[in-house]
Amino acid sequence: MQTTSKPRVLILYTGGTIGMRPSPEGYIPVAGFESLLRQKLENSAHDALPEFELIEFDRLIDSSNLMLSDWSAIAESLIQHYDQYDGFVVLHGTDTMAYSASALSFQLQGLNKPVIVTGSQIPLVELRNDALDNLITSMIIAGFHPVPEVCIYFNGRLLRGNRSRKVKATGLDAFNSPNFPWLGQVGIHFELHKSLIRNAGNPEFQAINYRDEAVVMLPIYPGMPTTLVDQMLRAEQTAGVIVQSYGVGNLPDSNRALMKSFARATEAGKVLINISSCLQGDVLQGTYATSSALDEIGMISGGNMTPEAAFSKLHSLLATVSDRTQVRLRMQQNLCGEMD
Ligand code: ASP
Repeated sequence: MQTTSKPRVLILYTGGTIGMRPSPEGYIPVAGFESLLRQKLENSAHDALPEFELIEFDRLIDSSNLMLSDWSAIAESLIQHYDQYDGFVVLHGTDTMAYSASALSFQLQGLNKPVIVTGSQIPLVELRNDALDNLITSMIIAGFHPVPEVCIYFNGRLLRGNRSRKVKATGLDAFNSPNFPWLGQVGIHFELHKSLIRNAGNPEFQAINYRDEAVVMLPIYPGMPTTLVDQMLRAEQTAGVIVQSYGVGNLPDSNRALMKSFARATEAGKVLINISSCLQGDVLQGTYATSSALDEIGMISGGNMTPEAAFSKLHSLLATVSDRTQVRLRMQQNLCGEMD
């Protein structure tokens, strides 16, 4: 009997457009993705593909229904099967893909195999779709290319997961990493930017048990209702806040009540992280007078992290590190390529 030395890839199917079918209410995720995929691959050049197996999740979701427990379930499955495969592909809806890819990067620190998260804007069942190419290319990267990172692959772009953002609702080039270069691009050839790709580490994996209500995202906007913000900051379940500020980290400092609320929250031990609502750039507290008091207040600069990375990182730390000083410290450290 011939033995195969082909790499083995495990595909996790969690839902998303890639596996959806039309229903009277609109697209819904459906089971049976593996047989559909094998049928589509029947006449393809299998030699170029790694061997693969597919696990279909019981809870198949439109990713706008994502719960933090789904992050734990994906990580658990990857950790459980880690030794048996050479690489992994996670099929996920695009709406919250950047959140999940970020969360996975913090749960799978010290990764030494590829974990490629992908999906599509058009389902695989449709005649014209981006699903097959996104999936086949992700499988090839996961099986044959040394990318020991959680990445998003989409429409020819290989992006670091915790630097990625969904930037288009309907375009097939739905993902980008506006604040960090692509790790690679795939056209006729695979071009990987080796100098940007992280070195293989020593796995220190942890499927985290998150506390859903621990972190709040707070976009700053003109005339925001201070009383409501104050209530949210005072809420017992709020342990951390991702403040999405203007430009290089500016806040409406003339709103004394708002600034007092922030100061009270940090005094109460809550972790406030300042990130920019701009797609590109960095938080530099103190550049303008409007952000000069933030260090004093105890608000921490989130540097150039994406909102998705900052949110999932703070969740991960609050769930695993009890000392808040340590949480603050580690929020400012680059744990797995999420910030410079
Ligand atoms: N609503 C879908 C989802 O996130 C969108 C997609 O997958 O493209 O599951």
